[in-house]
Amino acid sequence: MAKRDYYDVLGVAKGASADEIKKGYRTKAKELHPDRNIDKPEAESQFKEANEAYEVLKDPEKKAAYDRYGHAAFEGGMGGGGGRPGGGFGGQQGDFGSAFSDVFDDLFGDFMGGQRGGNGGGRRAARGSDLRYNLQISLEDAFAGLQKTINVPTSVACDGCKGTGAEGGSEPSTCPTCSGMGKVRAQQGFFTVERTCPTCSGLGQIIQNPCNSCGGAGRVEKDRSLAVNIPAGVETGTRIRLAGEGEAGMRGGPAGDLYIFIDVVVHELFERDGNNLFCRVPVSMSAAALGGSIEVPTIDGGRGRVQIPAGSQSGRQMRLRSKGMPALRGGGPGDMFIELAVETPVNLTGRQKELLREFEELSSENNPESSSFFSSVKSFWDSMKG
Ligand SMILES: [Zn+2]
Ligand SMILES: [Zn+2]
Repeated sequence: MAKRDYYDVLGVAKGASADEIKKGYRTKAKELHPDRNIDKPEAESQFKEANEAYEVLKDPEKKAAYDRYGHAAFEGGMGGGGGRPGGGFGGQQGDFGSAFSDVFDDLFGDFMGGQRGGNGGGRRAARGSDLRYNLQISLEDAFAGLQKTINVPTSVACDGCKGTGAEGGSEPSTCPTCSGMGKVRAQQGFFTVERTCPTCSGLGQIIQNPCNSCGGAGRVEKDRSLAVNIPAGVETGTRIRLAGEGEAGMRGGPAGDLYIFIDVVVHELFERDGNNLFCRVPVSMSAAALGGSIEVPTIDGGRGRVQIPAGSQSGRQMRLRSKGMPALRGGGPGDMFIELAVETPVNLTGRQKELLREFEELSSENNPESSSFFSSVKSFWDSMKG
Protein backbone atom coordinates (compact mmCIF):
# COMPACT_ATOMS: atom_id res chain seq x y z
CA MET A 1 0.00 0.00 0.00
CA ALA A 2 1.36 3.39 -0.95
CA LYS A 3 2.27 5.68 1.91
CA ARG A 4 -0.02 8.67 2.30
CA ASP A 5 1.33 12.13 1.88
CA TYR A 6 2.39 13.56 5.26
CA TYR A 7 0.61 16.85 4.66
CA ASP A 8 -2.59 15.00 3.82
CA VAL A 9 -2.23 12.88 6.92
CA LEU A 10 -2.18 16.00 9.10
CA GLY A 11 -4.92 17.65 7.03
CA VAL A 12 -2.83 20.69 6.11
CA ALA A 13 -1.80 22.27 2.82
CA LYS A 14 1.59 21.63 1.20
CA GLY A 15 3.16 24.97 2.07
CA ALA A 16 1.74 24.97 5.63
CA SER A 17 3.61 26.93 8.32
CA ALA A 18 5.10 25.30 11.40
CA ASP A 19 2.16 26.56 13.45
CA GLU A 20 -0.40 25.14 11.06
CA ILE A 21 1.41 21.81 11.08
CA LYS A 22 1.42 21.74 14.86
CA LYS A 23 -2.27 22.65 14.98
CA GLY A 24 -3.13 20.01 12.39
CA TYR A 25 -1.26 17.41 14.38
CA ARG A 26 -2.93 18.30 17.67
CA THR A 27 -6.33 18.02 16.09
CA LYS A 28 -5.56 14.63 14.55
CA ALA A 29 -3.82 13.31 17.62
CA LYS A 30 -6.71 14.13 19.90
CA GLU A 31 -9.21 12.71 17.48
CA LEU A 32 -7.27 9.49 16.91
CA HIS A 33 -5.71 8.84 20.30
CA PRO A 34 -6.11 5.12 21.17
CA ASP A 35 -7.46 5.93 24.64
CA ARG A 36 -10.38 7.62 22.98
CA ASN A 37 -10.91 5.03 20.28
CA ILE A 38 -11.01 1.77 22.14
CA ASP A 39 -13.68 0.36 19.84
CA LYS A 40 -11.98 1.63 16.67
CA PRO A 41 -8.85 -0.43 16.10
CA GLU A 42 -7.98 1.32 12.84
CA ALA A 43 -7.51 4.56 14.80
CA GLU A 44 -4.31 3.23 16.27
CA SER A 45 -2.51 2.91 12.95
CA GLN A 46 -3.86 6.27 11.86
CA PHE A 47 -2.60 7.74 15.10
CA LYS A 48 0.85 6.31 14.44
CA GLU A 49 0.70 7.63 10.90
CA ALA A 50 -0.08 11.14 12.19
CA ASN A 51 2.78 10.93 14.66
CA GLU A 52 5.15 9.82 11.98
CA ALA A 53 4.07 12.67 9.72
CA TYR A 54 4.45 15.19 12.50
CA GLU A 55 7.87 13.93 13.49
CA VAL A 56 9.06 14.70 10.00
CA LEU A 57 7.22 17.93 9.28
CA LYS A 58 7.98 19.62 12.60
CA ASP A 59 11.70 19.22 12.04
CA PRO A 60 12.98 21.77 9.48
CA GLU A 61 15.74 19.44 8.25
CA LYS A 62 13.51 16.41 7.88
CA LYS A 63 10.78 18.54 6.36
CA ALA A 64 13.20 19.89 3.76
CA ALA A 65 14.28 16.34 2.95
CA TYR A 66 10.68 15.22 2.65
CA ASP A 67 9.69 18.19 0.50
CA ARG A 68 12.57 17.31 -1.81
CA TYR A 69 12.52 13.52 -1.93
CA GLY A 70 9.13 12.55 -0.54
CA HIS A 71 8.93 9.29 1.41
CA ALA A 72 12.07 8.10 -0.33
CA ALA A 73 14.00 10.42 1.98
CA PHE A 74 13.32 8.11 4.89
CA GLU A 75 13.19 4.68 3.44
CA GLY A 76 14.95 2.34 5.78
CA GLY A 77 15.86 5.32 7.93
CA MET A 78 13.55 4.89 10.87
CA GLY A 79 14.05 1.22 11.39
CA GLY A 80 17.75 1.71 11.78
CA GLY A 81 18.71 0.05 8.49
CA GLY A 82 21.26 1.60 6.21
CA GLY A 83 20.78 3.33 2.92
CA ARG A 84 19.78 6.79 3.87
CA PRO A 85 19.82 9.06 0.89
CA GLY A 86 21.68 12.34 0.85
CA GLY A 87 19.74 14.27 3.52
CA GLY A 88 22.10 14.83 6.39
CA PHE A 89 19.91 14.20 9.41
CA GLY A 90 20.95 11.69 12.00
CA GLY A 91 17.63 10.35 13.08
CA GLN A 92 18.66 8.13 15.93
CA GLN A 93 16.03 6.09 17.61
CA GLY A 94 16.97 7.42 21.04
CA ASP A 95 16.51 11.13 20.68
CA PHE A 96 13.61 10.48 18.37
CA GLY A 97 11.78 8.87 21.22
CA SER A 98 12.46 11.64 23.65
CA ALA A 99 11.46 14.34 21.21
CA PHE A 100 8.22 12.56 20.77
CA SER A 101 7.52 12.20 24.45
CA ASP A 102 7.86 15.98 24.90
CA VAL A 103 4.99 16.54 22.55
CA PHE A 104 3.13 13.73 24.19
CA ASP A 105 3.39 15.19 27.68
CA ASP A 106 2.35 18.54 26.43
CA LEU A 107 -0.65 17.21 24.57
CA PHE A 108 -1.99 14.46 26.71
CA GLY A 109 -1.02 15.40 30.19
CA ASP A 110 -4.57 16.62 30.69
CA PHE A 111 -6.47 13.47 29.96
CA MET A 112 -3.90 10.87 30.83
CA GLY A 113 -4.62 11.77 34.41
CA GLY A 114 -1.13 13.10 34.93
CA GLN A 115 0.28 9.62 35.30
CA ARG A 116 3.23 10.46 33.15
CA GLY A 117 4.24 13.17 35.55
CA GLY A 118 6.71 12.62 38.31
CA ASN A 119 9.64 11.52 36.21
CA GLY A 120 12.57 10.49 38.30
CA GLY A 121 10.30 9.26 41.05
CA GLY A 122 12.11 6.00 40.73
CA ARG A 123 11.24 3.32 43.19
CA ARG A 124 7.93 3.90 44.90
CA ALA A 125 7.12 1.88 47.99
CA ALA A 126 3.35 1.62 48.16
CA ARG A 127 1.69 3.89 50.70
CA GLY A 128 -0.74 2.26 53.09
CA SER A 129 -4.47 2.91 52.74
CA ASP A 130 -6.34 5.53 54.69
CA LEU A 131 -8.74 4.11 57.23
CA ARG A 132 -12.12 5.36 58.32
CA TYR A 133 -13.41 4.85 61.82
CA ASN A 134 -16.98 5.83 62.75
CA LEU A 135 -17.30 7.05 66.29
CA GLN A 136 -20.68 7.66 67.93
CA ILE A 137 -20.69 10.01 70.87
CA SER A 138 -23.33 11.71 73.00
CA LEU A 139 -24.13 15.40 72.85
CA GLU A 140 -22.70 15.73 76.36
CA ASP A 141 -19.39 14.31 75.12
CA ALA A 142 -19.47 16.60 72.12
CA PHE A 143 -19.95 19.46 74.58
CA ALA A 144 -17.14 18.53 76.93
CA GLY A 145 -14.75 16.75 74.53
CA LEU A 146 -13.37 13.37 75.45
CA GLN A 147 -10.41 11.05 75.47
CA LYS A 148 -11.26 7.70 74.03
CA THR A 149 -9.34 4.54 73.32
CA ILE A 150 -10.42 2.92 70.09
CA ASN A 151 -9.46 -0.40 68.59
CA VAL A 152 -8.56 -0.19 64.96
CA PRO A 153 -8.18 -3.37 62.94
CA THR A 154 -5.35 -2.46 60.62
CA SER A 155 -2.05 -3.70 59.36
CA VAL A 156 1.19 -2.67 60.94
CA ALA A 157 4.82 -2.93 59.92
CA CYS A 158 6.06 -6.51 60.43
CA ASP A 159 8.33 -6.95 63.44
CA GLY A 160 10.20 -9.90 61.93
CA CYS A 161 11.60 -7.96 59.01
CA LYS A 162 11.20 -4.38 60.24
CA GLY A 163 8.80 -3.81 57.38
CA THR A 164 11.23 -4.66 54.58
CA GLY A 165 9.61 -8.02 53.77
CA ALA A 166 12.99 -9.79 53.61
CA GLU A 167 13.84 -12.65 55.97
CA GLY A 168 16.47 -12.59 58.68
CA GLY A 169 18.18 -9.29 57.97
CA SER A 170 18.66 -10.01 54.27
CA GLU A 171 18.11 -7.04 52.05
CA PRO A 172 15.66 -6.76 49.20
CA SER A 173 17.57 -6.49 45.96
CA THR A 174 17.11 -4.13 43.07
CA CYS A 175 14.71 -5.49 40.49
CA PRO A 176 16.70 -6.70 37.48
CA THR A 177 13.85 -6.09 35.03
CA CYS A 178 13.47 -2.36 35.66
CA SER A 179 16.76 -1.63 37.43
CA GLY A 180 14.82 -0.29 40.37
CA MET A 181 12.76 2.22 38.39
CA GLY A 182 9.50 0.36 38.96
CA LYS A 183 8.58 1.00 35.35
CA VAL A 184 9.59 -0.49 32.06
CA ARG A 185 9.67 1.16 28.68
CA ALA A 186 8.81 -0.67 25.53
CA GLN A 187 9.24 0.53 22.01
CA GLN A 188 6.11 0.08 19.92
CA GLY A 189 6.65 1.47 16.49
CA PHE A 190 7.27 5.12 17.15
CA PHE A 191 6.02 5.02 20.70
CA THR A 192 7.78 4.57 23.88
CA VAL A 193 5.21 2.99 26.14
CA GLU A 194 5.89 3.07 29.83
CA ARG A 195 4.23 0.61 32.14
CA THR A 196 4.51 -0.74 35.65
CA CYS A 197 7.25 -3.33 35.93
CA PRO A 198 5.67 -6.81 35.89
CA THR A 199 8.45 -8.36 37.95
CA CYS A 200 8.30 -6.10 41.00
CA SER A 201 4.81 -4.56 40.53
CA GLY A 202 6.36 -1.12 40.51
CA LEU A 203 8.19 -1.43 43.81
CA GLY A 204 11.63 -1.42 42.19
CA GLN A 205 12.86 -4.15 44.48
CA ILE A 206 12.43 -7.87 44.69
CA ILE A 207 12.75 -10.13 47.66
CA GLN A 208 14.60 -13.37 47.10
CA ASN A 209 14.12 -14.57 50.65
CA PRO A 210 10.71 -13.42 51.87
CA CYS A 211 10.05 -12.94 55.59
CA ASN A 212 8.29 -15.90 57.20
CA SER A 213 5.98 -13.79 59.35
CA CYS A 214 4.54 -11.58 56.65
CA GLY A 215 5.24 -13.51 53.46
CA GLY A 216 7.23 -10.61 52.07
CA ALA A 217 4.55 -7.94 52.36
CA GLY A 218 6.37 -6.18 55.17
CA ARG A 219 3.20 -5.76 57.18
CA VAL A 220 0.84 -7.91 59.22
CA GLU A 221 -2.81 -7.65 60.25
CA LYS A 222 -3.26 -6.52 63.80
CA ASP A 223 -5.69 -4.70 66.09
CA ARG A 224 -4.22 -1.51 67.34
CA SER A 225 -5.57 0.45 70.22
CA LEU A 226 -5.23 4.17 69.88
CA ALA A 227 -5.97 6.93 72.36
CA VAL A 228 -7.78 9.68 70.52
CA ASN A 229 -8.60 13.13 71.70
CA ILE A 230 -12.03 14.36 70.62
CA PRO A 231 -12.09 18.13 71.04
CA ALA A 232 -15.10 19.92 72.54
CA GLY A 233 -17.56 21.25 69.98
CA VAL A 234 -17.45 18.46 67.39
CA GLU A 235 -20.64 17.67 65.53
CA THR A 236 -21.97 14.99 63.24
CA GLY A 237 -19.78 14.97 60.15
CA THR A 238 -16.68 16.32 61.86
CA ARG A 239 -13.59 14.45 60.63
CA ILE A 240 -10.52 14.06 62.74
CA ARG A 241 -7.39 13.09 60.87
CA LEU A 242 -4.65 11.15 62.59
CA ALA A 243 -1.72 11.38 60.21
CA GLY A 244 0.22 8.17 59.76
CA GLU A 245 -2.18 6.09 61.87
CA GLY A 246 -3.77 4.32 58.91
CA GLU A 247 -2.63 1.11 57.32
CA ALA A 248 1.10 0.48 57.19
CA GLY A 249 2.71 0.84 53.77
CA MET A 250 3.97 -2.08 51.73
CA ARG A 251 7.60 -2.88 52.39
CA GLY A 252 8.38 0.11 54.48
CA GLY A 253 6.27 2.56 52.46
CA PRO A 254 4.62 5.41 54.36
CA ALA A 255 1.51 4.61 56.39
CA GLY A 256 -1.89 5.98 55.41
CA ASP A 257 -3.96 8.25 57.63
CA LEU A 258 -6.76 7.38 60.00
CA TYR A 259 -9.92 9.46 59.77
CA ILE A 260 -12.35 9.45 62.64
CA PHE A 261 -15.85 10.38 61.53
CA ILE A 262 -17.94 11.77 64.37
CA ASP A 263 -21.61 10.95 64.71
CA VAL A 264 -23.36 12.76 67.55
CA VAL A 265 -26.40 10.81 68.72
CA VAL A 266 -29.74 12.67 68.78
CA HIS A 267 -30.40 14.02 72.28
CA GLU A 268 -33.74 13.50 74.00
CA LEU A 269 -33.94 17.05 75.27
CA PHE A 270 -31.70 19.30 73.20
CA GLU A 271 -31.77 20.00 69.53
CA ARG A 272 -28.65 21.51 68.05
CA ASP A 273 -28.30 24.14 65.37
CA GLY A 274 -24.66 25.07 64.87
CA ASN A 275 -23.48 26.05 68.31
CA ASN A 276 -26.94 26.89 69.65
CA LEU A 277 -29.13 24.50 71.55
CA PHE A 278 -32.93 24.46 71.66
CA CYS A 279 -35.23 22.81 74.11
CA ARG A 280 -38.96 22.92 74.75
CA VAL A 281 -39.99 23.34 78.34
CA PRO A 282 -43.58 22.69 79.44
CA VAL A 283 -45.08 25.37 81.74
CA SER A 284 -48.47 25.40 83.37
CA MET A 285 -51.15 27.73 82.08
CA SER A 286 -51.18 29.62 85.35
CA ALA A 287 -47.37 30.00 85.43
CA ALA A 288 -47.42 31.34 81.87
CA ALA A 289 -50.20 33.77 82.79
CA LEU A 290 -48.81 34.92 86.11
CA GLY A 291 -45.10 34.83 85.25
CA GLY A 292 -42.37 33.47 87.45
CA SER A 293 -39.12 31.64 87.05
CA ILE A 294 -38.39 28.09 86.03
CA GLU A 295 -35.34 25.90 86.32
CA VAL A 296 -34.06 24.09 83.26
CA PRO A 297 -31.34 21.49 82.81
CA THR A 298 -28.30 22.63 80.83
CA ILE A 299 -25.95 20.57 78.65
CA ASP A 300 -23.06 20.98 81.08
CA GLY A 301 -25.03 18.91 83.60
CA GLY A 302 -26.04 21.92 85.69
CA ARG A 303 -29.27 23.87 85.84
CA GLY A 304 -30.15 27.32 84.63
CA ARG A 305 -32.93 29.64 85.73
CA VAL A 306 -35.06 31.64 83.34
CA GLN A 307 -37.66 34.29 84.07
CA ILE A 308 -41.04 33.85 82.44
CA PRO A 309 -42.72 37.21 81.88
CA ALA A 310 -46.38 37.36 82.93
CA GLY A 311 -48.68 36.65 80.01
CA SER A 312 -46.23 34.51 78.02
CA GLN A 313 -47.77 32.65 75.11
CA SER A 314 -46.89 29.13 74.02
CA GLY A 315 -43.91 29.19 71.65
CA ARG A 316 -42.23 32.15 73.29
CA GLN A 317 -38.43 31.77 73.35
CA MET A 318 -36.11 32.73 76.14
CA ARG A 319 -32.36 32.77 75.83
CA LEU A 320 -29.67 31.61 78.22
CA ARG A 321 -26.52 33.22 76.92
CA SER A 322 -23.40 31.11 76.42
CA LYS A 323 -25.14 27.93 77.54
CA GLY A 324 -24.90 26.35 74.09
CA MET A 325 -22.11 24.29 72.55
CA PRO A 326 -18.47 25.40 72.57
CA ALA A 327 -17.06 26.56 69.25
CA LEU A 328 -14.73 24.01 67.70
CA ARG A 329 -12.62 26.63 65.97
CA GLY A 330 -12.35 29.77 68.07
CA GLY A 331 -15.12 32.16 69.01
CA GLY A 332 -17.41 32.04 72.01
CA PRO A 333 -19.92 29.35 72.83
CA GLY A 334 -23.45 29.31 71.44
CA ASP A 335 -26.62 30.12 73.38
CA MET A 336 -29.39 27.97 74.72
CA PHE A 337 -32.93 28.78 73.69
CA ILE A 338 -35.85 27.70 75.79
CA GLU A 339 -39.20 27.52 74.07
CA LEU A 340 -42.25 27.58 76.30
CA ALA A 341 -44.92 24.96 75.75
CA VAL A 342 -47.95 26.16 77.70
CA GLU A 343 -49.98 23.23 78.89
CA THR A 344 -53.72 23.20 79.14
CA PRO A 345 -54.71 21.55 82.42
CA VAL A 346 -56.51 18.21 82.16
CA ASN A 347 -58.44 15.94 84.57
CA LEU A 348 -59.79 18.87 86.51
CA THR A 349 -61.42 18.40 89.91
CA GLY A 350 -64.84 19.93 90.59
CA ARG A 351 -63.26 22.73 92.53
CA GLN A 352 -60.80 23.53 89.73
CA LYS A 353 -63.63 23.65 87.20
CA GLU A 354 -65.57 25.94 89.47
CA LEU A 355 -62.61 28.29 89.76
CA LEU A 356 -62.03 28.28 86.02
CA ARG A 357 -65.68 29.11 85.34
CA GLU A 358 -65.42 31.94 87.80
CA PHE A 359 -62.19 32.98 86.09
CA GLU A 360 -63.96 32.91 82.73
CA GLU A 361 -66.79 35.11 83.97
CA LEU A 362 -64.35 37.57 85.44
CA SER A 363 -62.43 37.58 82.18
CA SER A 364 -65.53 38.62 80.22
CA GLU A 365 -66.23 41.48 82.59
CA ASN A 366 -62.61 42.48 82.53
CA ASN A 367 -62.35 42.43 78.80
CA PRO A 368 -65.54 43.75 77.23
CA GLU A 369 -64.07 43.59 73.72
CA SER A 370 -63.47 39.90 73.88
CA SER A 371 -66.83 39.39 75.58
CA SER A 372 -68.62 41.20 72.77
CA PHE A 373 -66.66 39.05 70.34
CA PHE A 374 -67.75 35.91 72.15
CA SER A 375 -71.35 37.01 72.29
CA SER A 376 -71.37 37.75 68.59
CA VAL A 377 -69.91 34.30 67.88
CA LYS A 378 -72.50 32.80 70.20
CA SER A 379 -75.37 34.57 68.48
CA PHE A 380 -74.00 33.44 65.12
CA TRP A 381 -74.11 29.80 66.21
CA ASP A 382 -77.50 30.26 67.80
CA SER A 383 -78.85 31.62 64.53
CA MET A 384 -77.36 28.64 62.67
CA LYS A 385 -79.14 26.25 64.98
CA GLY A 386 -82.20 28.24 64.00
ZN1 LIG B 1 8.02 -9.60 57.73
ZN1 LIG C 1 10.94 -4.11 38.50
